[in-house]
Amino acid sequence: MEDAEVLELVMNDLKGMFGTSIPEPVAMKKTSWHTNPYSLGSYPHLKPGADLSVCDTIAAPLADKVFFAGDATSRKYMATAHGAYLSGIAAAESIMKSV
Ligand SMILES: Cc1cc2nc3c(=O)[nH]c(=O)nc-3n(C[C@H](O)[C@H](O)[C@H](O)COP(=O)(O)OP(=O)(O)OC[C@H]3O[C@@H](n4cnc5c(N)ncnc54)[C@H](O)[C@@H]3O)c2cc1C
Repeated sequence: MEDAEVLELVMNDLKGMFGTSIPEPVAMKKTSWHTNPYSLGSYPHLKPGADLSVCDTIAAPLADKVFFAGDATSRKYMATAHGAYLSGIAAAESIMKSV
């Protein structure tokens, strides 16, 4: 969305919460994770029609030697810090079993 559209949406919400007489903001700053060349996105997400089995595909080890962790590998808590953390523990346990 264009900045003006975002601002209008946000102001509508704020007016719903605090009344229509609230002042207009003097400035607005919003993140643009998708177009930021250093992030190119924010959260992993499933494309329409995809199912959670993609998490298992991403997490699948290579030759029982290279193991993967991270929020995109978590079926239960995709796109969260705790999903990433728990997947790291699971990957570490897999490494321990493989040696
Ligand atoms: C704006 C925002 C708000 C969020 N809020 C919440 C929240 O409130 N609660 C919550 O649970 N989660 C939240 N999340 C999600 C959470 O931050 C992520 O799910 C979590 O950080 C993912 O951890 P990760 O270790 O899988 O990946 P990351 O934290 O992305 O770590 C991956 C690391 O790999 C590094 N890397 C990438 N490519 C390479 C390379 N080629 N070589 C070496 N290093 C590389 C990156 O620099 C990065 O440090 C939020 C995310 C965003 C963007």
